[in-house]
Amino acid sequence: MELTGKNFIGSDRSGLGDLTFQAVDPSNGEKILPMFFEATLSEVDTAIQKAEKAFQEYRVKSGRDRARFLKQIGIEIMELGDPLIRRCCQETGLPEARIAGERGRTVNQLNMFADLLLDGWWVNARIDTADPERQPVPRPDVRSRHIPLGPVGIFGASNFPLAFSVAGGDTASALAAGCTIVVKAHPAHPGTCEMIGNAIERAIHKTDMPVGTFSMVHGHSVEVGMHIVKHPFIKAVGFTGSFKGGKAIYDAAVRRPIPIPVFAEMGSVNPVFILPGAMAEYKESIAEGLAASVTLGVGQFCTNPGLVAFEGSSDAVIFQEAAASRFKKIDTGTMLTSGIHQAYRKGIENITGQQGVKVLAEGIKKETVTGGTATFLQVDSKNFLSNRQLEEEIFGPSTLAINASDKSDLLEVAHKLKGHLTATLYATEEDLKNYPELVSILERKIGRLIINGFPTGVEVCHAMIHGGAFPATTDSRSTSVGTYAIYRFSRPVSYQNFPDHLLPDELKNDNPLKIWRLYNGEWKK
Ligand code: NAP
Repeated sequence: MELTGKNFIGSDRSGLGDLTFQAVDPSNGEKILPMFFEATLSEVDTAIQKAEKAFQEYRVKSGRDRARFLKQIGIEIMELGDPLIRRCCQETGLPEARIAGERGRTVNQLNMFADLLLDGWWVNARIDTADPERQPVPRPDVRSRHIPLGPVGIFGASNFPLAFSVAGGDTASALAAGCTIVVKAHPAHPGTCEMIGNAIERAIHKTDMPVGTFSMVHGHSVEVGMHIVKHPFIKAVGFTGSFKGGKAIYDAAVRRPIPIPVFAEMGSVNPVFILPGAMAEYKESIAEGLAASVTLGVGQFCTNPGLVAFEGSSDAVIFQEAAASRFKKIDTGTMLTSGIHQAYRKGIENITGQQGVKVLAEGIKKETVTGGTATFLQVDSKNFLSNRQLEEEIFGPSTLAINASDKSDLLEVAHKLKGHLTATLYATEEDLKNYPELVSILERKIGRLIINGFPTGVEVCHAMIHGGAFPATTDSRSTSVGTYAIYRFSRPVSYQNFPDHLLPDELKNDNPLKIWRLYNGEWKK
């Protein structure tokens, strides 16, 4: 199917605006056809009105129907076949195997939410039956469950053109919760967005979901996105991307006359702590793993380990040398966009000008349009602790080794950290006994704590938390990966003294959906 470059306004294709743009192949800087139409504000309004109208119908679809819809989206994505992979590689510079893997992950994610809907327990049904005899006052019958919030605005990131984009985790969790969605397509991969949009639209048609359940608008300026965020029918926002973008959207949402929640998953530096026992025993393999993790996908992962802290020792010297020699062997790789490439270069220029920062190694340099060269940097803990800029994300293949003078210095580094998506401890059993405070310090700021493993690679499962305290996210109470993400787009409602026939199925006396419920304080089916 030919790409149209148009916006998806419910089931209509629309390109009324004068502003157009094209995708760019980051490997050579060449523009790719077709032209994409930036949505006008009136097109965005129409899309949101359709999402509101569709919500009335979609929110009451059964879990079974919504599950069928999510599974169908997955089927339709697979049916896009090789053209999807080719277009996505061309727009992002990412290799075919990576995109094929990401497609699998995207489909699995949709299926996982579908299975959650079939199990049904996610609504968190709670039932406290009446006790008319209770003294001094009778106890009422009170029941609660989660319901969807309303139309949700979704912003994907450039570095996961499938798994954190049009049919990514935010979409899967919002649609699973019963919300309709208006997606802001990412201008770095608009053709991929359109293909996935087509797949969602076909799934809507085949599973008889209301028109307007999904819309998608293009934009290369912030107006389109901001219009979604400020629209009164939009009841929540899911965002994945930069700190700057996420914070701007959050600020706009809280300043609305009726503020709404924004779940912005933003940049992170993912500190790694190497404790002395692990450093002594495993320095070579940690050095190898570090260089691989930092430079994987040209470092363009939100879980890229950008800080590595340890106490100075002769083992630490060997570790740094081993890591430096690995970094030197890494080729310059194509970054996702010229903007990301420039930001990376500026970030490296800026950090290397900071007090006490040294470059220990650089990868093999190659002049390409968007080439990112691996960089291994070092600073001592005194300089690190006195310069908050050194903790900022430099999105790309670099990491900063922090040399602490002793244990208390290392703990001070942990204390001073901001919120991050992950933190890793490389530790022996003995180390873990000697540093009991480290886990409790980190627990207060981090979404996922890892022992002896690098943070790149996020499992999609029920227990995954891909979140963390600000500035990793604007709301640390949830996650953007895994089934727990559904609670971002729902809220609990109580029903008091309702007759059985008026209650939703999840709360009816005979439990027709056979779901797990907290019944008078006990979990029962
Ligand atoms: P980005 O530049 O922030 O873009 C994300 C989306 O937000 C785009 O559609 C962008 O549209 C829009 N946007 C940005 N600023 C905006 C504003 N002020 N108002 C309205 N819309 C705005 O991010 P990216 O470069 O695509 O992604 C890379 C970043 O994402 C990295 O920092 C990475 O760490 C982070 N990331 C985080 C996670 C996570 O789970 N925490 C996952 C993947 C990536 P325009 O381009 O049109 O402005």
